[in-house]
Amino acid sequence: MTTPSKLALVPFVSVDNMMRLTHHIGIENVMRDLTDYIEDDFARWEMFDKTPRVGSHSEVGVIELMPTSDGELYGFKYVNGHPKNMKEGLQTVTGFGVLADVYSGYPVLLSEMTLLTALRTAATSAVATKHLARKDSKTMAMIGNGSQSEFQCLALKAVCGIENVRLFDIDPAATAKAMANLAGSGLKLTACKTIEEVVSGADVITTATADKDMQTILTDNLVGAGVHINAIGGDCPGKTELHRDIVARASVFVEYPPQTRIEGEIQQMDPDHPVTELWQVMTGKADGRRSASEVTLFDGVGFAIEDFSALRYVHQQIKGTPFYKDLDFVADPDDPRDLFGMLQRAKP
Ligand code: NAD
Repeated sequence: MTTPSKLALVPFVSVDNMMRLTHHIGIENVMRDLTDYIEDDFARWEMFDKTPRVGSHSEVGVIELMPTSDGELYGFKYVNGHPKNMKEGLQTVTGFGVLADVYSGYPVLLSEMTLLTALRTAATSAVATKHLARKDSKTMAMIGNGSQSEFQCLALKAVCGIENVRLFDIDPAATAKAMANLAGSGLKLTACKTIEEVVSGADVITTATADKDMQTILTDNLVGAGVHINAIGGDCPGKTELHRDIVARASVFVEYPPQTRIEGEIQQMDPDHPVTELWQVMTGKADGRRSASEVTLFDGVGFAIEDFSALRYVHQQIKGTPFYKDLDFVADPDDPRDLFGMLQRAKP
């Protein structure tokens, strides 16, 4: 007998099923739902185990593990960041993740997280924009039109009421791709040829460029009063997007300071550069935007709690649907001490 017991089966969400699930719910609904899940988990921030993610760096990229737990569930994501991959026909970022029951230690979900990372990163930008941008923000500049870009635009439409998107990438083919993907979304789209053009009239600027280097995608003179910036592309030591003068001028908001100080735009600043944690703004423990002319910067690097929220969401959503497969993933000896005996089930 080689059939595993029901308890040992772990729901697995493949890339194919994640695509189907997202369309089944509707992509903008997913963005709104994920925003709610992230806000719920940020509201109970202090309950979570928190640690900067564990990175293994090479010349060309990074592979990271991102764990956290709320005491009932434990989650982690495996994710890579390889800016050179795109030129080789591979993605810059891929991932998968696990959710587990803290009481038994048994996994309760295994999921692809390449799509889910793009969805949760966009929802996190939406959380930041909702709490930090001027309430009358309607126009967004999207700099870097790769994999993350369309998700970022749709999240800000669904959650923050963005109506106009201006797009720019050093590769015009990337902008053309994003324009085509977003056609029919209800957003008014403008393809821009220069960085000066893309930021013109923007209330919100999102940067999602990929280069394993300290880049200056934006300089201070390009950022007008009252703008909110989501800088999400600089997310690893030695990898930034903004000129330090912008960081110096802006009020800086972060996920988890011990991680962001190593990985975010603020790695360019003194180790005690003042920052505010986003969860504290959300829960009323700290001020967000203080005036219509203030420049607010969400220095987003991606934190484990956002992945935990996303896994928790997927775990809830797949119940009673065909959008997962049960995997024989955990050994299930009839007698818990008789693992060797279980091995004999498959003896020819
Ligand atoms: P991608 O490789 O698909 O796209 C990146 C795009 O940036 C490309 O189209 C490239 O041409 C463009 N680009 C590079 N330099 C530029 C410049 N100077 N000006 C304008 N455009 C430029 O990568 P992706 O999956 O979209 O990811 C983008 C970045 O976001 C990566 O650095 C990735 O590590 C990061 N990321 C962050 C989070 C987070 O939580 N903060 C999550 C996912 C990805």
